[in-house]
Amino acid sequence: MTDADDGAPVETVGRREARSGGGGAPDEPLVRVRGLRKYYYEDDSLLDRLLGREPTSVKAVDGVDLDVRRGETLGVVGESGCGKSTAGETLLRLREATDGTVEFDGEDVMAMSDEELTRFRRRAGIVFQDPFSSLDPRMTVGDIVIEGLAIHDEPADPPADGRSKREWRRDRAAELLERVGLSADQIDRYPHEFSGGQRQRVGIARALALDPEFVVLDEPVSALDVSVQAQILNLLGDLQEEFGLTYLFIAHDLSVVRHICDRVAVMYLGEIVESGPTDAIFESPKHPYTEALLEAVPRASVEEQGRRVDALSGDVPSPRDPPSGCHFRTRCPEVIQPPTIDIPQEQYRGVMDLRDRLEREGFSAESVWETLASEHAGDDEFERDPVAFKETLREEFDLHGLTGATMDTVEDALEILVNGREGEAADRLRDAFTSPCEEEEPILTGETHAVSCHLHADEDYDVDLDPEDVGTAMGGMAGMPDGARNSDEGDGSAAPTGPEDR
Ligand code: ADP
Ligand code: MG
Repeated sequence: MTDADDGAPVETVGRREARSGGGGAPDEPLVRVRGLRKYYYEDDSLLDRLLGREPTSVKAVDGVDLDVRRGETLGVVGESGCGKSTAGETLLRLREATDGTVEFDGEDVMAMSDEELTRFRRRAGIVFQDPFSSLDPRMTVGDIVIEGLAIHDEPADPPADGRSKREWRRDRAAELLERVGLSADQIDRYPHEFSGGQRQRVGIARALALDPEFVVLDEPVSALDVSVQAQILNLLGDLQEEFGLTYLFIAHDLSVVRHICDRVAVMYLGEIVESGPTDAIFESPKHPYTEALLEAVPRASVEEQGRRVDALSGDVPSPRDPPSGCHFRTRCPEVIQPPTIDIPQEQYRGVMDLRDRLEREGFSAESVWETLASEHAGDDEFERDPVAFKETLREEFDLHGLTGATMDTVEDALEILVNGREGEAADRLRDAFTSPCEEEEPILTGETHAVSCHLHADEDYDVDLDPEDVGTAMGGMAGMPDGARNSDEGDGSAAPTGPEDR
């Protein structure tokens, strides 16, 4: 595996005088990321290989574009598992990208030679989320801070004042420890002697040792007590001002980024779904995912506390088999219904969940019968009762309350299911209920405030599907229309995976 271990000490960055100009003009972004992909390939089993199956990939980062401007803080937010750390580490080339380009100050990071990479490492550093695992417990904090200086043979020449290089480094470490709010006489202590907040200060001092220009802050305060978080955020803000740093600030919690970020990019399942100035993201979010994240932010006033807090139910789907079309559609509270359907979202969601479970072979009719039988254990009279069967599913998927043609279709599907024909039941539902959101992947559009959501792409999205053709025109999830991004994993319905155990 070429990937760096999480928590591996990272030699970073360069002294200010080492800031040689790359090819980038001053008004160009310092970091420019285009089409970044990072797929992890799980070890394929012997059986997989015998059967000639393709190894499955985890699409942790799946086509990310980002610009980080000089001196700004760009926030990257999203739930755990959305690919934020992978994106941060891949753009620093701590992990090798599957695809895409990263330019740092005009230089192509992916194409750097060893020598160029060494220079890049001095200019771009990282602070890891977990200050407990990211510091080597066997090293003193002084040695941790100067490790990068030693690796980069810094200073290049013996100091003019007669100190040895070693003494110079030790003095530099003492200075950095003080700068991050620790005291110089703690230099020979070990990480376990420090609190979480103090350790994160050590991690920050390490990242600053080589005087970088750019630092990826990977959830630098998530592991810390709330009272300590503000202190560390303040420190990071002060350091940014003092040293002219550019930050990529990763967080899963929107409330943390509000005061520290100039712009925010919201990430979901390996993709950026919305990006814009921080105020715009907070005051007029466009993507339902961003809105849901904002709903989850704790609120101060009682009035506001009354707002919906369960906006984001369920887990992030597995990046091994992301939903077709818009990745968020399986959890989205505003899924677009086909022209023939107009029912409350909860009801539509219930039908879609039923269909999704059938398509992913999440359950079989037989398992429903078994559940019913187990409820009647010991009852010799028990017979398979279609009425009870259907009622169980209506309960499970909240299908009560449907009316008219919609109800007829769902009842048809339930009847087909009673007879054990899961695939056919799924087909029936697919024919009637396919959402535009699952057919086509939305594209990130907009200049300063960009969003990728069909609700905001009226101009781009062609909704003139003939109601008669809805369903058949798409031929299921496989038949993504032209313009949908190529997915090299093929058709989700033809290659069902087992239930995810994440
Ligand atoms: P985040 O930082 O947003 O929580 P990560 O970048 O850590 O997300 O992970 C993104 C996805 O990639 C997750 O589904 C995670 O399980 C998966 N993943 C992360 N690291 C590896 C790895 N080394 N091998 C396989 N899958 C991984
Ligand atoms: Mg992470």
